[in-house]
Amino acid sequence: MSAVNETLIRDVVAEVLSRLGGSTTSPAKPSPAPATAPKADTGGCGVKKASAAPALRGKFGVFATADEACEAAQEAFLQLKSKGIAARRKIEEIVKTLAEKNAETWGKIEFEETKIGRLDHKIAKLQIIKLVPGVDWLRPDARSGDHGITLEEYTPFGVVGAITPSTHSIPTLSGNIVNICAAGNSVVFNAHPSAARCAALAVRAYNEAIYRETSIENIACIIEKPSLDSFNALCKNENTRLLLVTGGPMVVKAAMQTGKRAICAGPGNPPVFVDDTCCLTRAARAIISGAAFDNNLLCIGEKQVFVLDQVADKLMQKLSENGAVKLNSGQVEKLTKAAFTFKEGQGGGCAHASTNKDYIGKDPAVLAQAAGVNIPTSTQLLFGETDATHPFVQEEQMMPMLPIVRVKTVEEGIERSLQSEHNYKHTAIIHSHDVENITTMARALDTTLFVKNGPSAAGLGLGGEGYLSFSIATPTGEGITNPRTFTRVRRCVMVDNLRIY
Ligand code: NAD
Repeated sequence: MSAVNETLIRDVVAEVLSRLGGSTTSPAKPSPAPATAPKADTGGCGVKKASAAPALRGKFGVFATADEACEAAQEAFLQLKSKGIAARRKIEEIVKTLAEKNAETWGKIEFEETKIGRLDHKIAKLQIIKLVPGVDWLRPDARSGDHGITLEEYTPFGVVGAITPSTHSIPTLSGNIVNICAAGNSVVFNAHPSAARCAALAVRAYNEAIYRETSIENIACIIEKPSLDSFNALCKNENTRLLLVTGGPMVVKAAMQTGKRAICAGPGNPPVFVDDTCCLTRAARAIISGAAFDNNLLCIGEKQVFVLDQVADKLMQKLSENGAVKLNSGQVEKLTKAAFTFKEGQGGGCAHASTNKDYIGKDPAVLAQAAGVNIPTSTQLLFGETDATHPFVQEEQMMPMLPIVRVKTVEEGIERSLQSEHNYKHTAIIHSHDVENITTMARALDTTLFVKNGPSAAGLGLGGEGYLSFSIATPTGEGITNPRTFTRVRRCVMVDNLRIY
């Protein structure tokens, strides 16, 4: 076949695919896409724009109701079962490739929809989905002895119901699809309403490519307009075997009350303790890089710093030298009034602070304006001295403003860190070269992630060893979720035979 003819054929196939509503990035292989598929902008491998408004629903995983989605996902689970490990591998490859390839477009779409965080970091979070483990993570365990061979295999549940946060909608669902499907399951998402459109766009694109490559339909489904009702319907549906919840305290509580097994990636409020043995330059750089990432939206992000009095001034000087801007006490208080709302405690008790959503995930310049100060646009992070009871310390504020609290002793630093973590058992960070301080804090805080001498992100394999997931199961204890998290362990026993020695 001549090159001209080949090009012509490719163009024709691409045109046909696009009319059928399929993606046009891989036209060489004819698509079995159903003729009923909507033909609008799909957000597929070649996402065009965010405003493809009405046509997301239909095939390719986007459904009006939880029940429709669960039924389709159950069917997909059976399809995947019949196609074996090779199909799981293909799904893993497709999700990782598309997340990276579409990182800029999807990052922008998510940023425009949610209006929180930083565009560069929204993109970065999608570029690293390749660090999520996959099919190869699942290795059976074997016991071999005088009485034969016993094999324990990690097998799927079926349909997993997954709830995703507003703070990283597409990254969380992408990582979830890799982990859940690598283990042989299918998944139905109930996304956060304020980040649901971008989530549906990505789900649709993944399904298009997965269908084209494996003929499996709807392996990852999503409810187009998520609500509390759709959450309840998803949890109740008999096909939903397992829940994965990534979000704050309310949804964790709601999931645990459903009666279904729930893997809960809950809230955090990670403290940092800095002692007088560490390298303060390194500590300052790590703190900025962790707390400034995506304007401190990450559950693992540094939220408050306790520092030994004798090195506090030096640490703050290093923070200033490395791109952070210090607010004075008046500016901190002005910002506090804007960034929190206060409700009177019952019976005249202490006022309770809650974060003002208008400031969550906003740029330092926006916070600085509320504090009444102009800052360079390159500013990564704001910081200011507070006491340990301040709302910026006690609340999971998700803003690029770090409260710095002086402590007199190592014991006080660890005790205050523990108190401010609120027993979420999520993440804590220490900057120290003293093995005893490190060990004491690790034991006292008892967190799922404990990072020493690096930014919080190092706990997810970014600059530290390990692997990535945006769902860190804290209250329920599964840790950094991976394919094994979504499996049932089944044992197969051969008595007296098959041992070859
Ligand atoms: P959120 O709790 O407001 O929403 C999370 C999800 O839960 C959304 O899909 C939302 O629609 C749903 N939801 C909320 N309340 C619900 C209820 N009562 N019943 C049913 N569904 C409900 O959180 P967010 O602002 O989207 O995300 C930030 C929170 O998530 C922070 O607390 C952060 O620490 C946490 N988070 C944790 C992890 C982790 O891996 N542990 C990862 C990301 C975010």
